[in-house]
Amino acid sequence: MKCPIDGTVLQADKAEAHTGYGCISCKGSWLPKSYVASIQYTKEFDPQTFFAEVSSKAHQTTHNKCPCNCGYLRTTPEEEGVSFCSTCSGVWFEKNALKELLLRYNNKDDSFTAASSIDAIGFFATIGALFK
Ligand SMILES: [Zn+2]
Ligand SMILES: [Zn+2]
Repeated sequence: MKCPIDGTVLQADKAEAHTGYGCISCKGSWLPKSYVASIQYTKEFDPQTFFAEVSSKAHQTTHNKCPCNCGYLRTTPEEEGVSFCSTCSGVWFEKNALKELLLRYNNKDDSFTAASSIDAIGFFATIGALFK
């Protein structure tokens, strides 16, 4: 996958503060749909609301191509530095845009008690078992 801005090959796990694909040149980050959705495990973040919002707002076509080769990314004036692929639902964050988005949502750890974290681990263990 290549950076939509400068064509640098994106590197896995180099995205700021979150798992994703980062560009070492412009410091942008590409998050495939499942990576964006996984923010909900660490933050008070609702991926369905987020995707519904970006897909309804992002009407401006950019000159930047989706790293997954779907076509051009779209953007919205409301979300500065954030571009969206309407085909694969991946999201491109310019430098600091991902960090700023993550700052808008509270960490789940702040409100979670130790007991409920153990419940969450049990939940993920169950889900993991289902996919074996
Ligand atoms: Zn780049
Ligand atoms: Zn795409």
